[in-house]
Amino acid sequence: MKIGFTTSFPVEVVFAAGHIPIDMNNIFISGNANNFVEQAEFDGYPRNICSWIKGMYSVAHDAEMDAVIGVVEGDCSNTHSLMSTLVDKNIDVISFSFPHDKNRNKLAAEIEKLEQYFNVNHTKVDEVKLRLDKIRKKLIYLDELTFKENKITGLENHLWLVNSSDFNGDPQNFEIRLDEFILEATKRESIKTDFRFGFLGVPPIITDLYDFLLEHKVNVVFNEIQRQFSMPYLENDIVDQYLHYTYPYTIFDRLKDIQLEIKNRKLDAVISYSQSFCHRQIDNILIKKYIDIPVLTIEGDQPGELDARTKLRIESFLDMLKY
Ligand code: SF4
Repeated sequence: MKIGFTTSFPVEVVFAAGHIPIDMNNIFISGNANNFVEQAEFDGYPRNICSWIKGMYSVAHDAEMDAVIGVVEGDCSNTHSLMSTLVDKNIDVISFSFPHDKNRNKLAAEIEKLEQYFNVNHTKVDEVKLRLDKIRKKLIYLDELTFKENKITGLENHLWLVNSSDFNGDPQNFEIRLDEFILEATKRESIKTDFRFGFLGVPPIITDLYDFLLEHKVNVVFNEIQRQFSMPYLENDIVDQYLHYTYPYTIFDRLKDIQLEIKNRKLDAVISYSQSFCHRQIDNILIKKYIDIPVLTIEGDQPGELDARTKLRIESFLDMLKY
């Protein structure tokens, strides 16, 4: 069965049950994204609702998901209503929650609930975790090639890490392609740039941001949330893995990771990206307050290329860093 999902969750359970997990965000953004948004608006989704939600609504139909896992706590409050509209279209929905208080027992119970739904035992889930961790170790190496050796562009780093949320539904094929990519990247010359940036926030809906930055001699060597999707801590226990994962909890969890990586990766500045109509825009108040290197906030709305105003703001920010 094809099991769509709205954001990273313990994907090990779905693989262990022999199904194909599909991150609907990735299908949305790599397909005809504007069409997906339009399709949802045609069905009545309001203009002032985040494009990712509209995209996932359309993808659930278009890609004919057998069921959709909606992360209803720890991601996006819009997911509740998204799920209702999918139920109304006769799509099975399963809810999953990351407890806001990071309570270990509650998270363990959520994982167990998923295991029961998919009728799979915990030992099998642990076996899948071990298998995926082998690939995750390679992604850590890919990340190191980005920030230690400057051999990988911010866009490449973004794409590999963001796709590790579901391993494109086929871990074996993902690993083969990853091995080939890493082999090719190790042979490259280092990328010469003026600045090393971090990218904070949900993955961008803007398609040419990384290319525009690279044209201006900036490489993104830290993709915060995308890296979180790759579960880089390699915890032994699956519950600990999803407790250590910062994205579903508070901005303070994220800030600890960001501050550490700013030092680790010797970042010159960060871009804090937010999506129009997203509650996470409020987090920028604390990001600006607690991050002690220059921060540029940018916002994306519809899928597509950078608008002229954002390009000008990036260029002005770079001028400020130079002088
Ligand atoms: S970008 Fe924000 S509003 Fe949009 S789906 Fe993600 S959490 Fe929800």
